[in-house]
Amino acid sequence: MTFFYLLAIHLLALIGLIFFPAPGWKVAALSFGIAWLGGMGVTVCYHRTLAHTALRLHPAVRHLLILFAMFNGSGAPDTWTANHRQHHAKVETPEDISSPSIGGFWWSHLRWLWQAGNVPLSRWCPDLDKAEYRFWNRLQVPLLALSLFGGLALGPAAFFWLGPMRLVGSLHMQCFINSIAHMREGRKPGEDSSQNIVWLGFLHFFQGENWHGNHHAKPSSARLGWKLWQIDFGWYAIVLLEAGGLATKVKRPNLLTPGARYRLWPFASTPATPEN
Ligand SMILES: [Zn+2]
Ligand SMILES: [Zn+2]
Repeated sequence: MTFFYLLAIHLLALIGLIFFPAPGWKVAALSFGIAWLGGMGVTVCYHRTLAHTALRLHPAVRHLLILFAMFNGSGAPDTWTANHRQHHAKVETPEDISSPSIGGFWWSHLRWLWQAGNVPLSRWCPDLDKAEYRFWNRLQVPLLALSLFGGLALGPAAFFWLGPMRLVGSLHMQCFINSIAHMREGRKPGEDSSQNIVWLGFLHFFQGENWHGNHHAKPSSARLGWKLWQIDFGWYAIVLLEAGGLATKVKRPNLLTPGARYRLWPFASTPATPEN
């Protein structure tokens, strides 16, 4: 099913690109906006909140971000979290289901999505075995159908740009983190493969996920861009949510540990928490 879904959206995206290369600024802005919200849903909620418990979010914000992430084709919160925790726990070993060491770029970028099988949820995310998350599993297919076909209501160009073209763009933007962000050149076998990739920030709307080397160095930190120039809109959103009382228990990288070379963003004034 995953394979045929991916095949279908790629074919439709290609058709859209050929026949509707210029959809008008309104459709393009809407498509970009939905993808942007979906990216925030993944990085702030799925990744930093659910998978790494680097912060806690108010339930209303948490579920709104889950809605954005699912509408953007990122799957249900429990499977995303299970896959990601398994990735961190088994990274640099063949047990990491999305490791480039298994089958190179294409395995880590796409193939694992339909060939690696499911990781056991009971092992990797028992904390998400709750009605509030199971509820989203039932909505996955209808939400994805609405996401893919909803643009039809606004015409053919909107269909392609709001549906398959947005979904394909968002898919690859995330897949690059599993692939090239783990294909660091010149490393020794078994050495950390993760890396920060500046140009990936443009594809990621600078929401922070491109600082993947930072992230693997301190996975429990809610902040991914550590230097002031390492733009991290996911982090800025968290700081704003925290100021508004909607995010709590925000974990920050400990600057006092050896190797922590970076000064915190001025907003981050509370003491750093120890690493897990
Ligand atoms: Zn990684
Ligand atoms: Zn992570």
